[in-house]
Amino acid sequence: MFAHPDFDEHERVVYVREPAAGLRAIVAIHSTALGPAFGGCRMWPYRTDDDALADVLRLSRGMTYKAAICELPYGGGKSVVIGDPRRDKTPDLLRAVGRAVESLGGRYIVADDVGTTLDDLAVMRTETRHTAAATAAAKRPLPVTAWGVFNALLACAEHRFGQAGFTGLRVAVQGLGHVGYPLCRFLSEKGARLVVSDLDPARVASAEAEFGAASVPAGAIYDAACEIFSPCALGGVLNDTTIPRLKARLVCGGANNQLASQRHDLALAERDILFLPDYLANAGGVIDFHQESVDDSPAAVLKSVERIRRISAQVLDQSRRTGLRPLAVADAVVRERLDAARR
Ligand code: NAD
Repeated sequence: MFAHPDFDEHERVVYVREPAAGLRAIVAIHSTALGPAFGGCRMWPYRTDDDALADVLRLSRGMTYKAAICELPYGGGKSVVIGDPRRDKTPDLLRAVGRAVESLGGRYIVADDVGTTLDDLAVMRTETRHTAAATAAAKRPLPVTAWGVFNALLACAEHRFGQAGFTGLRVAVQGLGHVGYPLCRFLSEKGARLVVSDLDPARVASAEAEFGAASVPAGAIYDAACEIFSPCALGGVLNDTTIPRLKARLVCGGANNQLASQRHDLALAERDILFLPDYLANAGGVIDFHQESVDDSPAAVLKSVERIRRISAQVLDQSRRTGLRPLAVADAVVRERLDAARR
């Protein structure tokens, strides 16, 4: 564990097995320096246990960075359940997840994620109160992540192209799911021309009809003529193969862990492509959670998520002043906050 490439001084990594409930899970708490670790429960048919471990280590660290850069009183955590949500998810299994969360005594607060839903959290709540979405308003899904990415893009467009809004700019959006689709709506309302791709032809057809988007096959989005590339499907999409193909001058999107490795941030900069860290752009969910405890009306939640625009602008300004890339600036801010909290 301590030599694992994705181990980053995580405070706890807990393996959970409840055979009667069919549960095999790993909970990782990366940091509680700023507050209880917040993060989703992902259910996925991981090919190997090591894939599950790598995912939970990486994602829990990302949660620490999201909360810290957004000035929130939370740390970072994540849980992964090994299994196919369509086949293996049962109330028994979800209650077992709830017991695992409860056993951590409030150090970890569980939210929904890929393979789990707000309804699943309600089942977990029969065993633990340390879940997100416990208030009435929070049970209405809002496009908070897409709204956050949109606000990050507003800051980036101002910085890179010197303009408010997206008139005259072409944005290539990869993935039209919970994040990508509403993002297309926000962008098109502010004048963007869209090029989209998704594996699901029905989603592509909707985006064409609703936003007048052009579409390209999934593999061709990296070659699309555009000013902005917004990855909203998968991690690892910025790599040795794709970066040389990009036409965009700016990359900012909702997918987690977009860089295949840290060195690809430099590869983008060498092509003069501005990259905003994904953990800042896609932090809408944790801001939403925080807002539940303050004022969880939809208008207040969306307003609160708009802090991503201000923080992105600060990171970009500091990047311009210091010559450091935005990722280095944001990482340094996070590390400083964590160090101060630990001291
Ligand atoms: P989703 O499953 O709703 O949508 C993903 C979409 O991407 C699907 O329509 C899928 O068909 C498409 N897709 C998959 N592979 C593709 C490919 N190769 N090319 C083009 N399209 C492809 O997922 P989501 O909730 O929209 O999340 C998207 C990304 O954002 C993920 O990386 C997720 O981890 C990240 N994220 C999501 C949230 C959230 O609130 N949903 C929060 C933070 C980060």
